[in-house]
Amino acid sequence: MRKSHFKRTLCLLFCLILAISSVACTSQPKVTDGESVAMFKAGTYVGTANAHNGEIKVEVTVDEEAIKEIKILEHNESPGISDPAIERIPQAIIDDQSLAVDTISGATVTSAAIISAVTNALEQADADIDALKVKKEGEETARDTVEETTDVVVIGGGGAGLAAAVSAHQNGAEVILIEKMPRLGGNTILSGGAYNAVDPKRQEAQGIEDSIEKHYTQTYEGGDKLGNTELIKVLVENAYPAIEWLEDLGMKFDDELFTVLGGMWPRAHKPSTPLGTGFIDTYSKYIEENDGIEIILDTEATELMVEDGKVVGVKAKGLKNDMILHANKGVVIATGGFSKNIDMVEENNKDWPSLKDAKSTNHPGATGDGIILAEAVGANFVGMENLQLLPMGDPDTGSLSGNIELSVENRIFVNKDGDRFVDEGERRDVMTKALLEQEDAYMWVVLDHKNYPTPETVNNFNETIEELIEQGRAFKGDTLEELAEKINVDPAKLVKSVEEFNKAVETGGPDAFGRTLFDKKIDTAPFYAGPRIPTVHHTMGGIEINTNAQVVGKDGNIIPGLYAAGEVTGGIHGSNRLGGNALADITVFGRIAGENVAKEK
Ligand code: FAD
Repeated sequence: MRKSHFKRTLCLLFCLILAISSVACTSQPKVTDGESVAMFKAGTYVGTANAHNGEIKVEVTVDEEAIKEIKILEHNESPGISDPAIERIPQAIIDDQSLAVDTISGATVTSAAIISAVTNALEQADADIDALKVKKEGEETARDTVEETTDVVVIGGGGAGLAAAVSAHQNGAEVILIEKMPRLGGNTILSGGAYNAVDPKRQEAQGIEDSIEKHYTQTYEGGDKLGNTELIKVLVENAYPAIEWLEDLGMKFDDELFTVLGGMWPRAHKPSTPLGTGFIDTYSKYIEENDGIEIILDTEATELMVEDGKVVGVKAKGLKNDMILHANKGVVIATGGFSKNIDMVEENNKDWPSLKDAKSTNHPGATGDGIILAEAVGANFVGMENLQLLPMGDPDTGSLSGNIELSVENRIFVNKDGDRFVDEGERRDVMTKALLEQEDAYMWVVLDHKNYPTPETVNNFNETIEELIEQGRAFKGDTLEELAEKINVDPAKLVKSVEEFNKAVETGGPDAFGRTLFDKKIDTAPFYAGPRIPTVHHTMGGIEINTNAQVVGKDGNIIPGLYAAGEVTGGIHGSNRLGGNALADITVFGRIAGENVAKEK
């Protein structure tokens, strides 16, 4: 069973807060031959079912007539993604006195597992499960249309949308932000949190030489000189001021910078809280503390409203209502990328083999809705064929969790034979293309004890190495030969790969693969390895914007009233995004979009 301190803490919290009691709902006991009989054998029962990350355990209390209480006792589902299911499904079952409740979009597997676990418990209470699974008829309520007017409507509650909402508000606008999922965060909350910026304070303290020009050149050349130079300039010049803005809002970053996978240089800032939660929590706190930003969850934008060529609002669909949202100043599209829309991915895929069956690191809402919304009002698109794959997917899920690397400098990749095959400090596309040429497109990340000096050391996904080993997602050997046996690669080849890497660390390289990013040798037991495969990660193409984050139409003119920011836009990263540049991009351009839309008349 998977465990992590973070998840365990969450589990405990859930157990405390999810003692959900039935209040108003009563269901009718079964009536047989005019005689009332019990629906349940009164008592408290424990039920289990398998979910994404292992077993979910629930405790269900019933009296003879009704389901009274459901507690989630244990689960290991991903924080953030599964929260809405864990919060809502038990209450929905109690409210409806039914197992035929709707699953939560974006958390369907967790929802279904909770329903199964409750079913399992109710079977022990002699419940008529078939009857409880029948959807009650005639309970569909008519949908109302709700109409609201504000200054700015933001579509999408990830990092770019929240930055735009806060920035618009700081510039005097009233804002409504709609988010189609049951929670804020999008890919941003799932991200490793690595944020690139040339940082005079922290880099100097670490003795790292860097400059805005170097960040610019690496971004431009790293994307094969296809990025828009003006946008790149805005990105690299404003990345650090945006960190200061976040810090002013209360966000904390670690002092030590690092090189994130494919980031090419040690300028990645790590938030002091896990994953990308710091960004979302910081914006959420601002929104809670200041009147004037309304967040509407479970509400999907379906159409942009246009009057006399200007975008003046958004039509949307909520769980219970349709919505018409008028925007006096304008609309910001911040719906993220389209890695989870396999049709859109395949339609635009020119550089990779078929991705029809490829896995993705992304959250389920990354379906390119903003592309469709913008297309309908004449927006231009750039670089739609530029799809980023990472060589770092979990073999079962494609997600980045379980990735044992902590920093590019201190680990190597070996294939199923135990041979290195690429410069592991290279661009993401170069590494992934090299991986696709290896047997089964499968590799091992290999590193040593120095990366995990204490049992508490966690990877970028808040997992300790021992937890990953326990789950069978990482392996440990006291010698390289022992590790090789465990991961079924040729021990002699693994030893040779590590020896050659260590020699290059001594000389500073470049080594046989051209690698120059090194720090420490791999020479301290125990040694660790974790398996990885290619996975669809980022869509670099999207809506064309100018440096004000205004959307550019197919005729080359801006579309009045329409702004876009974040992964839904194209033109900054060219053919290949540097690791750590997306979080800088979404913050810088989200902030710019918010400021400029607020200034519209
Ligand atoms: P998102 O954060 O995805 O937000 C978009 C939101 O819009 C979502 O909540 C979505 O549900 C919502 N939405 C979509 N359609 C609609 C609609 N029709 N109506 C209403 N709402 C809608 N980048 C880095 O720089 N550093 C990293 O360390 C890093 N790690 C990553 C790790 C993972 C696992 C992933 C998946 C990505 C990572 N990235 C990283 C990339 C980066 O996180 C994303 O590019 C970035 O977060 C995108 O931000 P966004 O605001 O544009 O989109």
